[in-house]
Amino acid sequence: MLEIKNLHVDLEDEEKTILKGVDLSVEAGKVHAIMGPNGSGKSTLSYVLAGRDGYEVTEGSATLDGVDILDMEPEERAAAGLFLAFQYPVEIPGVGNMTFMRTAVNAQRKAKGLDEMSATDFLKMVREKAATLKMDNEMLKRPVNVGFSGGEKKRNEILQMAVLEPKMCILDETDSGLDVDAMKLVAEGVNALRNEGRGFLVITHYQRLLDHIKPDVVHIMSEGRIVKTGGPELALQVEREGYEDIKAEVA
Ligand code: ADP
Ligand code: MG
Ligand code: MG
Repeated sequence: MLEIKNLHVDLEDEEKTILKGVDLSVEAGKVHAIMGPNGSGKSTLSYVLAGRDGYEVTEGSATLDGVDILDMEPEERAAAGLFLAFQYPVEIPGVGNMTFMRTAVNAQRKAKGLDEMSATDFLKMVREKAATLKMDNEMLKRPVNVGFSGGEKKRNEILQMAVLEPKMCILDETDSGLDVDAMKLVAEGVNALRNEGRGFLVITHYQRLLDHIKPDVVHIMSEGRIVKTGGPELALQVEREGYEDIKAEVA
């Protein structure tokens, strides 16, 4: 589904190469995790897939269902079924959470040639999904993420994901800054969205999130490359031994 081949990425403003040949393919229905030390390029990979400015792809490709996404605008990527939840969700003062999600859903429906969803149907759908995430209806009325706690922001991203029903979900450090209960809630939200047609790429620094979101495949990223791939046991090895041993092993 998501196929990344030999991806090389430089910073636009500096002579610096961050990604040095990333190869990765995530099949539909699977959860892949990427772990790796700070500064290894995990967030950069998610930014490049999202289409954020400031990065230059110098080599390689990334496709979703065979379609090149690197040439698309960020909103086209979203319409193609890509969803990214970032480490630091942005606050959007003045834009109501419901309005934001409804605009996103209708933009996607339009791209697929579907009619807009009525306000009533949309409200019903969002309330149902918010309830499964134990989100207060009050949060739906507030401006996007403004004044939300760390945990509420992450839960809000999972809600956006549930509402948009993407094909491929990428979560960058969704667990950072969350207490155990909030992390479990996020994990439950993700697990509820797992299905045969949807792939997940879960980027995390620590193993603990993977106790709750059981990955099918675990990759270790180091210095801009995937250096090791294995099953869930690889995450446990990292937890036990740290990254240094794995780095030495592959060096
Ligand atoms: P990770 O998410 O694995 O911690 P990042 O992708 O955030 O790693 O960063 C990878 C490397 O690229 C780091 O050395 C970081 O300092 C550098 N980097 C990323 N983005 C920028 C930027 N905009 N300006 C300068 N350095 C950057
Ligand atoms: Mg450059
Ligand atoms: Mg990061």
